[in-house]
Amino acid sequence: MVIVMDGKVNEGHINNLSDKLKSMGFKLQMIKGEDKTVIGIIGDTRKLLSFPFYSYYGVVDVLKVSKPYKLTSREFRELSTIIRINEVTIGGQEAVLMAGPCAVENEEQIDIIARKVSAIGARVLRGGAFKPRTSPYSFQGLGERGLKMMSEAAKKYGLLVITEVMAIEQIDMIANYADIIQIGARNMQNFMLLKEIGKIKKPAMLKRGMSATIEEFLLSAEYILSGGNKEVILCERGIRTFENYTRNTLDLSAIPAIKELSHLPIIVDPSHATGRKELVGPMSKAAIAAGADGLIIEVHPNPEEALSDGAQSLELSDFERLISELEQVAQAVGRSMHLSYTSV
Ligand code: PEP
Ligand code: MN
Repeated sequence: MVIVMDGKVNEGHINNLSDKLKSMGFKLQMIKGEDKTVIGIIGDTRKLLSFPFYSYYGVVDVLKVSKPYKLTSREFRELSTIIRINEVTIGGQEAVLMAGPCAVENEEQIDIIARKVSAIGARVLRGGAFKPRTSPYSFQGLGERGLKMMSEAAKKYGLLVITEVMAIEQIDMIANYADIIQIGARNMQNFMLLKEIGKIKKPAMLKRGMSATIEEFLLSAEYILSGGNKEVILCERGIRTFENYTRNTLDLSAIPAIKELSHLPIIVDPSHATGRKELVGPMSKAAIAAGADGLIIEVHPNPEEALSDGAQSLELSDFERLISELEQVAQAVGRSMHLSYTSV
């Protein structure tokens, strides 16, 4: 349930209502704007069906949010959420590029990649140090050592860091190195992990589970938002279908659908969505054309030797070509890109 109050109300008027609701056991989230204050009520709102909201000064609207997710919905927040990290904005006019290897492998590898993707225009360096591999015998990541290498390379070339957290015990340590915490597809419904991410003050990128519906995806985001962390970026990374030519099927329609249902930014991972490097470019263009707020792309200086996901990793020169072509698509849909074509 969402209560809309007139922008002219003062703190006292807001407190009259919010104190009463809190005393009834509800948790509240507020957005204070110039012309209105919006209060989201979290809890079992069936108790409020006959509550006299309009007798409280300044209440102009009571919206029963029809969706099972509340804080994530457009009904709760009309304006799109823009996440600001240093000078980077995610969810605004710029289509943001995140790029890097599937896994951090060694200092040289991550340095070469960071230097190149930064020169091309990426804002965020991706790379896994704790890898959720299907087989226990596959490379599992370098752990904290990998995070150190990655954050050094990112600092050197002016990039932000995004990396995956797989378990609650890792959150504090990973938060020391990362600017954005990634929750992988396999953990999209790890509700205990989501609750803990809800308590931290750091942007989180939630990837869509491989068999999750859009509603389940948004409900997982709701776990984080309802814990108090409002900086959530969604990531469409393909879902499992009967098609097995591609690793997953990129659900392009999820982008405009989510834009309509939610105020959160959504970016696309064409690498895990397709599993094939030759499809990464076309799907990147399609994603931007469909309204994605950015892309997260796997790259490697030598994909044949990559310790994970070589088949879907772009060589650095292919990445550069793709990005130069993407700009026109971005412009056609009114987006800008932070690009510099200086080859390094
Ligand atoms: C990743 O981005 O490193 C990853 C493992 O992706 P996903 O969780 O989407 O499979
Ligand atoms: Mn990968």
